[in-house]
Amino acid sequence: MRDIYRFAIPIILPLLFVGCTSKKWYKGNTHVHTILCGHADTSPEAVTAWYHERGYNFLCLSEHNQFIDPATVKMPADLRDDFILIPSEEVTGGDQAHSTALNIDGVVDPRLVQPSGASKTQVIQAHVHGAEQQHGHSILNHPNFHYRNSAEDIRPVEGLHMFELYNGHPAVNNFGDHEHDSVEEMWDDLLTDGMLIYGVSSDDAHKFQEIGLEHSNPGRGWVMVQADLLTPDSISEAMYRGNFYATSGVMLSEASVEDRQISVTVDEAGTERELSSPFVMGHTIADGKNGYTIQFIGPEGRVLEAVNGTKATFSVSSDYDYVRAKITYTRKAGQEFENFYAWMQPVFTDGRVHFVIQE
Ligand SMILES: [Zn+2]
Ligand SMILES: [Zn+2]
Repeated sequence: MRDIYRFAIPIILPLLFVGCTSKKWYKGNTHVHTILCGHADTSPEAVTAWYHERGYNFLCLSEHNQFIDPATVKMPADLRDDFILIPSEEVTGGDQAHSTALNIDGVVDPRLVQPSGASKTQVIQAHVHGAEQQHGHSILNHPNFHYRNSAEDIRPVEGLHMFELYNGHPAVNNFGDHEHDSVEEMWDDLLTDGMLIYGVSSDDAHKFQEIGLEHSNPGRGWVMVQADLLTPDSISEAMYRGNFYATSGVMLSEASVEDRQISVTVDEAGTERELSSPFVMGHTIADGKNGYTIQFIGPEGRVLEAVNGTKATFSVSSDYDYVRAKITYTRKAGQEFENFYAWMQPVFTDGRVHFVIQE
């Protein structure tokens, strides 16, 4: 009998490994408002229905300093079995910092929202603790809204591993201005300085009744999360470990990292479908060239390699503490051009992941 096992094991083991790679991609938005905050225009039920109708898999109803218990939200009558709400809140510390408390058990302790006399770093730190107390994770939101959170404010915060790299609200200055860095430049500063921080893309939508680029509409920024299961815990933990990419319209059919090799393939049909939506918001640039570019970016935001096309791979050597892939789609828009992006999470070679997040 033993001989049978000896021959069977080499056959069974590879099958087990194949069976382990059962992760799926889930589309979701981590940041949206409802009529409950007093300055948005649609009920939690109707906001939920908007995302459900458009094929999203998860949504966070992230109200300002209010916890919307998903159990109290009437779900669509034709509810798909691949759609969930993740209990969340936008912890809103006035003009100092806002953050999404993701997958929480209840409202974050109000004393941690904006502790008096605290610096911006201390406020963000308090938000992280507040989310942790409710068994959730923090995403620092829109750091460039009024340019209120700089890399210097963010870097010392402990336990913060996600921030909004892209936010669909027209007032948040994702791309900076002549005086201020873009959020992506800030990201490279933080990564270069050794921080373990992943980039999220979200809507922060308030307006569902009037559509236009001047309104904070939905459907502009989302994440694609690779997880074992579609449950609040599984999605939240996958994001906390960086198993997702952020997008403002570009979809990927392959976004993988194996043995430090990053492989990217654009899902052209999926991207075309997304960009035919009236809700997406391009990043206007004066000059460009139609098509896809895949860039591999390392410390200090240096472009290590750029490929014009829809498929690329890059082997990350220990010469770089991190490398990340950015995929840009450019199309003509009137006299100008507009860009849409997908941002993969960095691959680290300096051990910071194991140091910070225990398996
Ligand atoms: Zn906010
Ligand atoms: Zn918000």
